[in-house]
Amino acid sequence: MSNRTLAIIKPDGIRKNLIGQIITKITEAGFKVKAVKMVKLTKDSAAGFYEVHKERAFFKDLLDYMTSGPCVPIALEKENAVADFRKLIGATDPAEAEDGTIRKLYAASKAENVIHGSDSDENAAIEILHFFSRKELLDISGYQF
Ligand code: ATP
Ligand code: MG
Repeated sequence: MSNRTLAIIKPDGIRKNLIGQIITKITEAGFKVKAVKMVKLTKDSAAGFYEVHKERAFFKDLLDYMTSGPCVPIALEKENAVADFRKLIGATDPAEAEDGTIRKLYAASKAENVIHGSDSDENAAIEILHFFSRKELLDISGYQF
């Protein structure tokens, strides 16, 4: 089991001025922030990140949303990181998310749901490397990817 996951505070989370509250929820749940930055995704970069959804009807809207403003990707570490983080953020649709989860608290809709969390250990490693180079992870946090 890996202890890493990638979070992204999505553009609606930034617009709602929720960076602080969301990171507080994450750290209070026991996750350690290993690397963080603010970036504006290009269409190509967002398409690469969400390639698994490229045949879906909502794909174009997803790219428009994810490129509508800056994002804050965060590399996180905790035992059982992937599953515990998915639990902390709640279901994709905030209407179905459990009370106290980040999406239940802050998200407006299934499409605009303020936060991303990796869905497997394998994808966590791929997604962390989408935003952070091996060299910066080594320099910042001693990560050997
Ligand atoms: P994420 O991968 O962002 O953590 P998730 O794993 O909960 O979210 P996915 O099924 O991977 O959900 O969908 C990726 C993103 O695409 C969702 O977070 C949401 O922003 C958008 N999305 C998913 N399903 C729909 C839908 N039916 N209509 C509109 N947007 C959707
Ligand atoms: Mg997903």
